Amino acid sequence: MDNQKLIIIGSGPAGYTAAIYAARANLNPILYEGFFSGPPGGQLMTTTDVDNFPGFPDGITGPELMESMRKQAIRFGTTIITEDVKSVELGKRPFKVFGSKTHHETESIIIATGATAKKLDIPGAGEGELWQKGVTACAVCDGAMPIFRDKELFVIGGGDTACEEALFLTKYGSKVFMIHRRDELRASKIMQEQVLNHPKVKVFWNSECVQIKGKEVVEEVVIKDVFTGQETTKNAAGVFFAIGHRPNTSFLGSQIELDPSGYIIVKGNSTLTSIDGIFAAGDVQDKIYRQAVSAAGSGCMAALDAERWLSHNKKS
Ligand code: NAP
Repeated sequence: MDNQKLIIIGSGPAGYTAAIYAARANLNPILYEGFFSGPPGGQLMTTTDVDNFPGFPDGITGPELMESMRKQAIRFGTTIITEDVKSVELGKRPFKVFGSKTHHETESIIIATGATAKKLDIPGAGEGELWQKGVTACAVCDGAMPIFRDKELFVIGGGDTACEEALFLTKYGSKVFMIHRRDELRASKIMQEQVLNHPKVKVFWNSECVQIKGKEVVEEVVIKDVFTGQETTKNAAGVFFAIGHRPNTSFLGSQIELDPSGYIIVKGNSTLTSIDGIFAAGDVQDKIYRQAVSAAGSGCMAALDAERWLSHNKKS
């Protein structure tokens, strides 16, 4: 096996930004961009317009933004491998990274494998149906789209994300409805108070969204009372899933410290993990902000942390 200085796993804004910085620092990074695990480029590959990434006053599509980042990483000498990483061995240096066909030894790794938004598998919500045509999993990314202006919007979930998204959407929708499967929100008390006292927000308690209807875009939702089974159809222009994310960390096993939800734990305001020489960036370690620009920022931090760590831990 060869011995690399740095391998980056993941190809969202965090991975590509880490690659740009690391390549410019002459670390000759290898980046595994994935293949079957999800589209190379991450969650933005299934987004249409990105209007909140600085530098694009007229917006840019998610795939165009990711293609630009990818090209920028390659321009400075990143080697991109289009494979999933199947497993890693982090017990001792050099670490080992096993892709589906290739494998490498490396002195350091940046893990930037992101997280996957959970979706409800209900009629109308799928790709090829109304997904990204009014159904999304990120109000902050998509809420300002004209199709949602002054319309009735629905947020599914009862956690902090659902509350935050409902409050965010009050700026755009005529009314925001939360659909929650229980009679009590999971969110922190302060978020609950804000939502429950907001004149534009109403909660459907003990309820599930069982269908989303519409020809070109979302027009209606069907809500079912979990106790009586009674179904009600409501006008809707947008449905926002806020039922949690799954961090993409299963390939790590129990080798690195994860929180109870499976997110990588980083030390303080850094990208350092429980293992020296392993860094984590982007949504795989961030369950609060989850934005392309914050992921890119943490990718930059990870590359700088890795560069510093490598210079202090040079092999004699
Ligand atoms: P979460 O706390 O896991 O909440 C997910 C919500 O979705 C729960 O209310 C859950 O219902 C509901 N849900 C899950 N699966 C469902 C399904 N199949 N059908 C219907 N509803 C379903 O996720 P989150 O809100 O994304 O928060 C994740 C973590 O990030 C939490 O620790 C949270 O505190 C943190 N966070 C913090 C902030 C902040 O501090 N500003 C902002 C966002 C998130 P049940 O309640 O019935 O389980």
